[in-house]
Amino acid sequence: MRKKIIAGNWKMYQTPGQARELARAVKNGMAKIVPDREIVLCPPFPALYAVKEEIEGSKIGLGAQNIYPKEEGAFTGEVSPLMLQELGVSYVIIGHSERRQYFKEEDGFINQKVLIALKYGLKPILCVGETLNEREANLTKDKIKTQLLGGLKGVPLKEPEVLVIAYEPVWAIGTGRNATPQQAQEVHRFIRQWLGERFGEKTAGDIRIQYGGSVKPENVASLMTEPDIDGALVGGASLSADSFLAIAGG
Ligand code: PEP
Repeated sequence: MRKKIIAGNWKMYQTPGQARELARAVKNGMAKIVPDREIVLCPPFPALYAVKEEIEGSKIGLGAQNIYPKEEGAFTGEVSPLMLQELGVSYVIIGHSERRQYFKEEDGFINQKVLIALKYGLKPILCVGETLNEREANLTKDKIKTQLLGGLKGVPLKEPEVLVIAYEPVWAIGTGRNATPQQAQEVHRFIRQWLGERFGEKTAGDIRIQYGGSVKPENVASLMTEPDIDGALVGGASLSADSFLAIAGG
């Protein structure tokens, strides 16, 4: 039985002080949340410590938005798995479409990040998704397959709990236009089948696949009832405790 996972991607919003307040508001509202859901907050790097302090003792998990695929070294501006580990981070978003688009991250580099995250006990949330042009050209599944093949190359997956896939159609991120539950389910089913060929059916049946792209309190319930949708990666709507809690409980 897969436990649904709702993660808030705060992107480049929230100073450490603001992040502390937002994390506190989420923590205080946790009573409203369906108990069998896993909740993860992914603040920007400078706010990780404040959020870690704030959620201590709660059931909320801490996630980072990026990682560099080296333990340490002369890589100005980057953050290593060891640093994230020490900050109590348990999840790391890898391959988000904004990083692919603005920072030109490609599948090989994303793969290195997935491998090092797993090596240090950090659970990757590997993001995959097609652009609008690709969807319209009927290339959605080809694109997802390429991203999965590249991102998961050489990944030794012993426990399905340590990997989360986020299906995030690029045309739905931050646009207010979400995939319909049927569109999302079709791709989630495809991802699970691919994972089954790669890792075996039993393992694939236990890997969680989140949907991301304009998830809001109004559309979350219909998405979550689809059989292969195991939670949500939430951007804009995670920046308010009320809407994030409504999504987490919806
Ligand atoms: C995201 O950033 O991963 C995301 C899904 O954003 P939004 O919910 O704002 O579309």
